[in-house]
Amino acid sequence: MDRVDCVVVGAGVVGLAIARRLAQAGREVIVLEEAEAIGTVTSARNSEVIHAGIYYRAGSWMARMCVSGKHALYRYCAERGIPHKNCGKLIVATTPRETEKLQSIKAHAEANGVLDMQLLSGEAARALEPALACDAALLSPSTGIIDSHAYMLSLRGEAEAAGAAFAFHTPLIRAKAAGGVIEIDAGGEAPMTLQCALLVNAAGLAATTVARHIDGMPLEQIPPAYLAKGNYFSCSAKAPFSHLIYPVPEPGGLGVHLTLDMAGQARFGPDVEWIETIDYAVDPARAERFYPAIRKYWPTLPDGALMPSYSGIRPKIVPPAVATQDFLMQGPRDHGVEGLINLFGIESPGLTSSLAIADHVADLAGL
Ligand SMILES: Cc1cc2nc3c(=O)[nH]c(=O)nc-3n(C[C@H](O)[C@H](O)[C@H](O)COP(=O)(O)OP(=O)(O)OC[C@H]3O[C@@H](n4cnc5c(N)ncnc54)[C@H](O)[C@@H]3O)c2cc1C
Repeated sequence: MDRVDCVVVGAGVVGLAIARRLAQAGREVIVLEEAEAIGTVTSARNSEVIHAGIYYRAGSWMARMCVSGKHALYRYCAERGIPHKNCGKLIVATTPRETEKLQSIKAHAEANGVLDMQLLSGEAARALEPALACDAALLSPSTGIIDSHAYMLSLRGEAEAAGAAFAFHTPLIRAKAAGGVIEIDAGGEAPMTLQCALLVNAAGLAATTVARHIDGMPLEQIPPAYLAKGNYFSCSAKAPFSHLIYPVPEPGGLGVHLTLDMAGQARFGPDVEWIETIDYAVDPARAERFYPAIRKYWPTLPDGALMPSYSGIRPKIVPPAVATQDFLMQGPRDHGVEGLINLFGIESPGLTSSLAIADHVADLAGL
C-alpha cells in the first residue's frame, strides 16, 4: 500500500488552494479528483465575483474569511498577472424604504471590516452609471471580478511546483481512520489504496457523502445536505454598466443582480431554487421573474433580451427555512478523528475566501 503524508479530496478552487498551501509548507500532497480536470463543478459555475464581505453575519467564518480572503486574492492576482478587475459594485435602492436600508447595510459592512462603503444620492449613482434608475445607492469599491479558471490554473501550477501530485478520474470511495492513520480506497480506472496522516475533505457538494464514507467519523457530526440551485440568464443586449449592480437584498436572497465577466458580458442571477437532485438545466420560464426585478433598476432592458445561461448549486447544510449558514470547517478537535479535516457548506463567498480557507486548514493541521 502506498503511503503519503496528505491527501486532499477535490480539485475545486478550495482543494487547489489547500493543496498549494500544504505543499508550500513542505508537506507531501496528493490530490484525488473524480472528474477529468480541475475546477469542473461549483468552481466552474459561479459569478466569479470577488466579494467585499458586506452581508455575512458579523463574526461568522464567512465574514472573516471573505474580508481576509479578498485582500489575499487581490494581492495574489496582482503579483501573478491573473486577470481580474476591481470594478466595484452598486447596491441600488429604488424606493424610499430601500433607501432607508442602505445606512444599515453600510453599518453592517463596517462591522465586518468593510470600511470603504460610500452612500450615494441617485444623481451621484447616475453620474457613475447613467442608465441606472435609483433613488440612492451604496458603492462598494472593493468588490471585483476574477478569471477564476486562470486563478485555479495558477494554484495548480504552484501546488505542483511545490511537489503536489494530482490523480484525476480518481474518486475517494471509502476511508478508514484509526490511530492517526487514514486508509483510503480510491476508485476509477486505476483503483488504489493509500495511507495518509492528513485527509482534507474538500469535495464541495459531495463533502457530506465523503464524510459518511469515512469509517471512524462520527455520523452525528456530519451536517445534513441540501441543494440550492442558482440560475443565470445572459443578456443579448449590451448592458450599459461598468459596475456590478445589486438591488437592496430581500429576505431570503440578494435579489436579481447583474454581474459582468472579464469580457464585459453581463449576466443576471443567480436566483435561488431548492432542488432534491443535481440538475443544471436552466428553465427558460424563470426569466419571467427576472424581467420585472431587473427593470426596477434598468428600465430599458429590452423584451426578449434574457437567455437561459448556466446554473450552479450551493452546497447548503441548513434547510430553506434557515436564512443563513456559515462555513463549517472541522478539525480533529471538533470531531475527534485524528488527521481528518472536513469542509462543509462552502458556498459563496468560497471563491473569494479560498486563500483564507487554505490558511485556516493549515492551522487546523497544526502547520
Ligand atoms: C451559483 C453560485 C454562485 C457563486 N458565486 C460566487 C462568487 O461570485 N464569488 C465567490 O467568492 N463564491 C461564489 N460561489 C461559491 C464558490 O463557487 C464555491 O464556494 C467554490 O467554488 C467551492 O469550491 P470547492 O473546491 O469547495 O468545491 P467544488 O468546486 O465543487 O470542488 C469539489 C471537487 O470535489 C470533487 N469530488 C467530489 N467528490 C469526490 C470524491 N469522492 N473523490 C474525489 N473528488 C471528488 C468534485 O469533482 C469537485 O471537483 C458561488 C457558488 C454558487 C453555487
